[in-house]
Amino acid sequence: MESGINLSAKITAPNGLRSIWNSFLDTVFPPKCLVCRRLFQPAFASPESGQTAHTVTEIRDLLPQAHRLLNVLCCWDCVNALMAISEPLCACCGKMFKQPQADNHLCGDCIIQPKKFRIARAAMVCDQQSMAVIHRFKYAGKTQLAMPFGALMLNAYLRYWHPEAIDLILPVPLHNQKFRSRGFNQSYLMIDSWKAICSVKPVAAFNKRLRTDVLIRSKATVSQTGLGRRQRLKNIKGAFSVRLREAVNGRKVLVVDDVYTTGATVDECARSLLKAGAALVDVLTLARAI
Ligand SMILES: [Zn+2]
Ligand SMILES: [Zn+2]
Repeated sequence: MESGINLSAKITAPNGLRSIWNSFLDTVFPPKCLVCRRLFQPAFASPESGQTAHTVTEIRDLLPQAHRLLNVLCCWDCVNALMAISEPLCACCGKMFKQPQADNHLCGDCIIQPKKFRIARAAMVCDQQSMAVIHRFKYAGKTQLAMPFGALMLNAYLRYWHPEAIDLILPVPLHNQKFRSRGFNQSYLMIDSWKAICSVKPVAAFNKRLRTDVLIRSKATVSQTGLGRRQRLKNIKGAFSVRLREAVNGRKVLVVDDVYTTGATVDECARSLLKAGAALVDVLTLARAI
């Protein structure tokens, strides 16, 4: 049995019996790491364990909490192999620079081809290890990963934005066909988990700003995976439309996606949103190519 199945059993156990129940389950059904499939000793984390922060300052560093939540599902080796994004970065697209002494500045790509969005930031590096975990979430339906990933994203959000800086949070929409076959929008689930991670007022208010009815995917596109930069731009052009212009007009919008590769998808979202009157469009992703 996989740890994901065990986890749901753990969550429904009565409060007083939870730790005994968890020990029993872990003994009878030792969980396997979602990524490397090895048996491992999971950390104990209940959904309530996330709600320990009471002020914005307390939630500034959610990394240990995000790692504990991940360690319920994945072994420590797989959790520790996830690389955080570190400065210096491109001031616009968030690309990591190799020279550690440099300040943030624009990368060559953003100078040659200015982006429609204002800034893009991410929680972790997109590499083989992070893609292995993200694929388990997106393609194997391991939606229990939404909360630890959400914690990583909330940590990144509070690192780069003031809690009140954003009026509207829009997950990159899936086309109806894809949504039906997958059953969920991974970006929506990650942000929706913020309410369970933290009950601090400004963060809890994000829930009201999270909308899925504003930006829609009007064109079914082939997956961007495996396409070159030019093909990606062509593939995604005109894919999005804004359904509720009045919800966007004059608003500071945050577009949320799982992975930033060339930025073609989020930049196309930004183009549609600015055309509909958004004051600015920023981008937050779980992982970013380096
Ligand atoms: Zn592992
Ligand atoms: Zn850049």
